[in-house]
Amino acid sequence: MDFGLSDEERAIRDTARDFITREVMPLEQELLRRERAHQPGLERSELRELQLKARKFGFWGLATPAEYGGMDLPAVVQSLIWTEIGRSFVPFRFGGEADNILFHATEEQRQEFLLPTIEGERNSCFAITEPGAGSDAANIRFRARRDGDDWILNGEKTFITGGNEADFAIVIAVTDPERGARDGGATAFLVDRAMGWRSEFIPTMGEGGPASLFFDDVRVPNRNILGEVGQGFTLAMQWIGKGRYTIPSHAVGIAERALRMAIDHANTRETFGARIGTNQAIQWMIADSETELEAARWLILRAAWTVDAGLDPRHASSMAKLYGAGMVNRVVDRVMQIHGGMGYTRELPIERWYRQVRLYRIFEGTDEMQRLIISRDLLRGYTKLGGHLG
Ligand SMILES: Cc1cc2nc3c(=O)[nH]c(=O)nc-3n(C[C@H](O)[C@H](O)[C@H](O)COP(=O)(O)OP(=O)(O)OC[C@H]3O[C@@H](n4cnc5c(N)ncnc54)[C@H](O)[C@@H]3O)c2cc1C
Repeated sequence: MDFGLSDEERAIRDTARDFITREVMPLEQELLRRERAHQPGLERSELRELQLKARKFGFWGLATPAEYGGMDLPAVVQSLIWTEIGRSFVPFRFGGEADNILFHATEEQRQEFLLPTIEGERNSCFAITEPGAGSDAANIRFRARRDGDDWILNGEKTFITGGNEADFAIVIAVTDPERGARDGGATAFLVDRAMGWRSEFIPTMGEGGPASLFFDDVRVPNRNILGEVGQGFTLAMQWIGKGRYTIPSHAVGIAERALRMAIDHANTRETFGARIGTNQAIQWMIADSETELEAARWLILRAAWTVDAGLDPRHASSMAKLYGAGMVNRVVDRVMQIHGGMGYTRELPIERWYRQVRLYRIFEGTDEMQRLIISRDLLRGYTKLGGHLG
């Protein structure tokens, strides 16, 4: 068994690490200063500038197919890169990406939505959650009613990431209330903001924030259906599936950086005439954090490997998301404890991580939903104990 990286994987990972270290991390102190002053941490134009700089290093469209100018990287390499991104708390991501389901676009939709999104000229958001349907996403009520060559959309979507900034929304709507969303009753629509929906920012405990989207008789032409009529729920699950290994990959980067800070602090801070790292209480927090971090790393890489191997990745990805999200919360909590009062201030990024990573246990499938998937797979005999080795 070989747990190592190939030369190519290592080279790509190291180049990404280099870029994050040299171009992104130097912005961190300014980011904290701005956030303390209640200003946006990173302006859209600054993010774009960084992304274009990264493009010169070849980092453009990690998941985007080569025919669209992307890197089309295997999931394992994407996971490694998301871990590198997580090492900095600057909200950076590489450019050249589009929501994975946008690649189901027709030729006309490609020109109007997909290509400008990849180029960073247009911003999208993905909307399935409603005030009455989150975990139970198949219970959506947001309605699209046929009217000649158009559809009329009515309803509210909520907690939509980027919903306040988006130029267009990918909206999952009920097109056939007789059938369940899971059974062909839901459809995905590409809806320009100019078509008449409005958004309202939702303040949260994290930086930035999602939005509610309101549709009141919004008329959308039939040509704006993404994929097929009735395929909406399948597309939505495909969208959500991607985050189940990228979110915990990002969490590993955060946890590693935070744990590094805790180790340095434990080696320098003195109380009662000795470094705090000489206390078993502190040593155990460091040991538990490192152990959980490693366990998460391998669960996540296996989930990504499962994607690359063409196997059904859902079970492995749910375990990776569940464990990775819990791990980063526990590690950041311990890192704050090790830093004492300083950990709680806005001089350091720890309290920021503390607020940020709490979300990881909630969005794109809560802890409880991941447990539901994992146990259901086992109880109905779909998944064998022992994974792909079993
Ligand atoms: C910052 C943020 C960004 C988001 N971005 C997006 C986005 O871009 N697009 C989008 O569509 N959505 C987005 N969401 C929505 C997110 O996916 C939902 O909040 C999440 O799926 C949970 O749904 P809910 O909030 O309705 O909670 P609920 O479904 O009401 O659940 C409440 C609690 O009950 C638990 N629970 C529910 N059912 C069960 C059960 N059967 N067994 C055990 N426990 C159960 C849940 O795990 C949770 O703990 C975002 C949310 C947030 C907070």
